[in-house]
Amino acid sequence: MVAALRESGRRLTPQRLEILRILSNSEGHPSVEQIHRTLIPDLPMLSRATVYKTVGLMKELGQVLELDFGDAHNRYDGNTHEPHPHLICKRCGAILDLENLPLESLGEEVSEETGYIITGHRLELFGICPDCQRAVDSQPGHRPT
Ligand code: ZN
Ligand code: MN
Repeated sequence: MVAALRESGRRLTPQRLEILRILSNSEGHPSVEQIHRTLIPDLPMLSRATVYKTVGLMKELGQVLELDFGDAHNRYDGNTHEPHPHLICKRCGAILDLENLPLESLGEEVSEETGYIITGHRLELFGICPDCQRAVDSQPGHRPT
């Protein structure tokens, strides 16, 4: 990411570097808001707009994958920019990568059936994660069946 930023002629400011660090280190697909909240104790001058612009720039440079949930709710994956399927908790917003789905062979099948050339995919499965299921079970008045 740093190399891509430099090659694009942009300056690597300390703020940008910290934002890139979060994007490339976190497994959780953070939002702009989450990145900002994580960094603000160390970078009190950091604005949400700077995070927003830096993330947008990295997306433009093909370095992060954007999961589109409508502007402020968008989440970002800096680990791989190749499209890959995600599993999303409807309750807490946790997002997992799904690594082992046979999407290539699915694409080939669809291509054969329809005559389309498949150029990409976007797959999101939604559900309730195990932590959130436990939280619901332990709520007063809730009787597990
Ligand atoms: Zn959850
Ligand atoms: Mn991902």
